[in-house]
Amino acid sequence: MELYRLTIHEMRSLLDSGEVTAEAVTRSIFERIRRLEPEVAAYITLLHESAMEQARYWDQRGYQDREAVLAGIPLAVKDVICTKGVRTTCGSRILADFIPPFDSTVAEKLKRAGCILLGKTNMDEFAMGSSNENSAFTSTRNPWSLDHIPGGSSGGSAAAVSADECIAAMGSDTGGSIRQPASHCGVVGLKPTYGRVSRYGLVAFASSFDQIGPITKDVTDAAILLNVIAGYDRRDSTSVPAKRPDYTQSLVEGLQGITVGIPRQYFVEGMDLEVDRSAREAIRILEHLGAKAVDVSLPHTEYGVAAYYIIAPCEASSNLARYDGVKYGYRSRDGKTLMEMYRKSRSQGFGPEVKRRIMLGTYALSAGYYDAYYKKASQVRTLIREDFLEVFKQCQVLVTPVAPTPAFALGEKVDDPLQMYLSDVFTLPASLAGIPGLAVPCGCSSYGLPIGLQILAPHFEEGLALRVGYNLEKNTDVHHRHPPLD
Ligand code: GLN
Repeated sequence: MELYRLTIHEMRSLLDSGEVTAEAVTRSIFERIRRLEPEVAAYITLLHESAMEQARYWDQRGYQDREAVLAGIPLAVKDVICTKGVRTTCGSRILADFIPPFDSTVAEKLKRAGCILLGKTNMDEFAMGSSNENSAFTSTRNPWSLDHIPGGSSGGSAAAVSADECIAAMGSDTGGSIRQPASHCGVVGLKPTYGRVSRYGLVAFASSFDQIGPITKDVTDAAILLNVIAGYDRRDSTSVPAKRPDYTQSLVEGLQGITVGIPRQYFVEGMDLEVDRSAREAIRILEHLGAKAVDVSLPHTEYGVAAYYIIAPCEASSNLARYDGVKYGYRSRDGKTLMEMYRKSRSQGFGPEVKRRIMLGTYALSAGYYDAYYKKASQVRTLIREDFLEVFKQCQVLVTPVAPTPAFALGEKVDDPLQMYLSDVFTLPASLAGIPGLAVPCGCSSYGLPIGLQILAPHFEEGLALRVGYNLEKNTDVHHRHPPLD
């Protein structure tokens, strides 16, 4: 058996029945990592020793504790999520040596559930980017084609899941950073409703958008991980005190009674024909399974990119002010005065995209411009949110492509930030509205690159998106394909 291929639920039942040990699975994953990492480069930090130790601990302790749903299961965590005693770089030189003295709520919950931490995955610096090329350390490659990007910013997590360099992973999504890399790497990614999962200990990029969520080999695993991480946390005032359902209960077969909205603004001229075809084929399958498809309209969609790329940089410029060489992070040694030290620490510590966002955000928030940019963009954000609230009166979920094209080539868009921003066109509106979004594989381009379907649901209705994704997965074979790495 190729142990590294296991999903969480498969491994759970094999551990519980004693057919495999956590040690054997973890070892097989590290062998895989050793073989593939020189090419895929999904990780920034690997925790070989402590992971093997935790695996042996769980094997010895046994798997009777039903509360520990992840006992003995090796996972990877994006390097933007604080892990106590384990370096957390955010893909940035400015945090290259940052070892958090505390666990994020998500890391704490994962540990409490018994998971084994394999390592921290690569990402665009401070989660700003769509290709992983903005990492200060290395560019992760797409396991399906090593000269293509894995997507971003959680590209390391998505590539690690797709290449079977972990059983599952955690990512974060501000404007698409879970859904887009999951789609480009042919795996499942879930951005929860804003407020569903605690942001405590998630290094802030744009606080009114950021959410942590799972990237997994199948929809069942996404439900299992959401169960572990969701819930109110008094340390995050934006987490919502809503009751957490058992998301695995949503995984029921059949889609009778479900109305699926197809927003016309997400099927537009100029988009990749294979993406268009795969999404439409997926919709036909959903209809075949009992869903009713209706055409709907989200009229303010076209303003999503502009609104997001004002608001997110504004929040970033404020959040990133704390990296001044004193409170956190890298300090330049060559400043003679305090101001010079600040300036040098920041200009040497941050990469070009992060600087661009800080400048954009600072400009947009400055006196005299606030009304024209930030305020206007916030008003547009409200309109986009209202579009969704309105459309969810006609349907329960929306189905769209995740991205307008499959993964692009490494280097193709690095010099053109605007083209990079435009590739987020289908994921940003849901982020502006705060609704949940699930990416599931739905096809493959003629070049062999995965194509993903985005399923959007109303606030706190992750279960609906999971149900639709689960049914699609059960009725397509894309989900069984593996990248050509062997
Ligand atoms: N690509 C988007 C950006 O660069 C979204 C990133 C994210 O979701 N973290 O901001």
